[in-house]
Amino acid sequence: TGKFFVGGNWKCACNHDDYYFGIYNDFCLKPVQILQNGTKDSIRKLVADLNDSKLENDVDVIVSPPYVYIDVVKQSLTERIEISAQNSWVGKGGAFTGEISVEQLKDIGCKWVILGHSERRHIIGEDDQFIGKKAAYALSQNLKVIACIGEKLEEREAGKTFDVCFEQMKSFADSISNWKDVVIAYEPVWAIGTGKVATPEQAQEVHVAVRDWLKKNVSPEVASSTRIIYGGSVNGGNCSELAKQEDIDGFLVGGASLKGPEFATIVNSVT
Ligand code: 13P
Repeated sequence: TGKFFVGGNWKCACNHDDYYFGIYNDFCLKPVQILQNGTKDSIRKLVADLNDSKLENDVDVIVSPPYVYIDVVKQSLTERIEISAQNSWVGKGGAFTGEISVEQLKDIGCKWVILGHSERRHIIGEDDQFIGKKAAYALSQNLKVIACIGEKLEEREAGKTFDVCFEQMKSFADSISNWKDVVIAYEPVWAIGTGKVATPEQAQEVHVAVRDWLKKNVSPEVASSTRIIYGGSVNGGNCSELAKQEDIDGFLVGGASLKGPEFATIVNSVT
């Protein structure tokens, strides 16, 4: 389905070791340790490594730096790679202290925004309705959207994976009309930052179900043309088996995207 799509979500960390350090600790309780994450130096190194890497032509490649580094990345990174933000404000910019507007993101060269990431849903507390509104606004301003969905471990164990994913899909679908600017990212929460990757069969099963949901609830055309990418502990070692699955149209990569050569391996896993 469409061009293979690989996004690197750098999250609030720019150094691979700090990233895992952050994930494995309760970062809400340890703010001092979080402050060690990400520096201009580590960003410069990552950009240099990406500029040096050979990437397959037929793949859309996106990286998503923390807001404060977007401008410097945009100015130094090869134009081959597009830039995404990790979040955006829900409507037009204005008096919303601490927020970043879609207009500002476009002004500094972002083409994409990640919305509904599980860390924003479950740590920050964004709900389906708020995320749906964000998607509608971003798309209305021609900022493309990586729309994230995914179940928690207890939901999977309770047999609710499809229910949860469909509910999240519904809130996106209710606010989206131009699907050509949307990529769906299936990211099971239990696989994010844990090293516990979904098996190719587990991922494929949900991707098929989501595509089928799109067919029934949006249209057959949207179902067959919308890319559904997988995220959660993807790395250079497991990417090619996942990429072989018929309905896995790419990846959203966290930790492994902080290492340029490994990220290039994942981009080049297109089959
Ligand atoms: P990891 O690849 O570190 O598991 O993170 C996945 C993710 O959340 C990408 O958005």
